[in-house]
Amino acid sequence: MAPKSPVETLDSFAREKLDALEAQALRRHLVETDRREGAVAWRDGRRLISFCCNDYLNLSQHPDVKRAAIAATELYGAGSGASRLVSGNHPLFAELEASLADFKQTEDCVVFGSGYMANMGIVPALVREGDLILADELSHACLLSGSKLSGARVAIFRHNDLAHLEELLATHRGAAKHCLILTDGIFSMDGDAAPVRELGLLAARHDAWLMTDDAHGIGVVGRDNRGSSFMGDAKAAVPLQMGTLSKAIGAYGGYLCASKPVVDLIRTRARTLIYSTGLPPGTVAAALAALEFIRANPDYCRRPVEKARSFARALGLADPVSPIVPLILGDAEATLAASALLQAEGYLVTGIRPPTVPEGTARLRFTFTAEHDDADIARLAAIVRERILQRRAAE
Ligand SMILES: *Cc1c(COP(=O)(O)O)cnc(C)c1O
Repeated sequence: MAPKSPVETLDSFAREKLDALEAQALRRHLVETDRREGAVAWRDGRRLISFCCNDYLNLSQHPDVKRAAIAATELYGAGSGASRLVSGNHPLFAELEASLADFKQTEDCVVFGSGYMANMGIVPALVREGDLILADELSHACLLSGSKLSGARVAIFRHNDLAHLEELLATHRGAAKHCLILTDGIFSMDGDAAPVRELGLLAARHDAWLMTDDAHGIGVVGRDNRGSSFMGDAKAAVPLQMGTLSKAIGAYGGYLCASKPVVDLIRTRARTLIYSTGLPPGTVAAALAALEFIRANPDYCRRPVEKARSFARALGLADPVSPIVPLILGDAEATLAASALLQAEGYLVTGIRPPTVPEGTARLRFTFTAEHDDADIARLAAIVRERILQRRAAE
């Protein structure tokens, strides 16, 4: 028998992996989804109300944002042509970075191709072998990917557990040259907030650098909707405020707001900035217009959390602090079934399964946007209560 060709072994490797995932209800599929005005999404010719989109302020569809993107595209073209360090640093970047730095009250800001790329670039530019990273166990996947890439020693602290973090600092901080503490500001799959103020104080006591990923905070939480560092009475001491332009901002891209020397170092050393093409001008212009809208419409920006709260109250859940309300069902199959039930009722709520969330915590993750209709939310809550929660309780 002729030896198998690499094409065959590669394909059979892929098939076996997929079959194993399928058997655990963990295979994933890309489903064509056509998003339109408000929270409407079309799938298979059906009109659904989406409760799983991170476009919290519906700004991806806002006429001013779209117009800004179109105008910049008409003027400057569809792409930026090169890395920002070569010739792709369109003047709109400086404007966007100044706007973000002003919004986050930092000296400077640097914009990346995406939030994922930002974390993959920032973390290895700051720490390396001989250094220590302490990360919340529910930190976003890209913070952990960036950590792995850095070569620094990584220790994980229990979710929002300051005592555990302090214990790890006491044990490991001394042996490390530098120490980076990583956490989501608002946790992407749970919607709760990190105790950023306390983390800032603890970090300061141990000469550790605190970095928050505010992907789900900017535009929707905190004073003037500036994000998770602004949720308390005073701004928390977070020297590294990272985030994305792809959620409440409604466009695409990532950013780091920090001091001028830190941002200059990142511009010089972050590989995902240096070796990747700059964002298209239309995308940068859209983010700028969205930030302008957020500054001018603070009350509108509070709506997503208010709507999340009305949904949670209808289900007897604790008041959410963000637009994200998780409903943990446990196993992946039950989650897929619940998602299918809601879809049959006209609601798009994608099931979230491991490894996106820890084993045994598969869930429905409801996200709320400014344009969601209160009647839709009430009906959704009734269906969840009567057809998912009460049935489970009866089983
Ligand atoms: C979505 C998300 C990211 C990734 O941002 P992108 O711009 O979509 O790449 C990073 N961190 C958190 C917490 C996120 O939720």
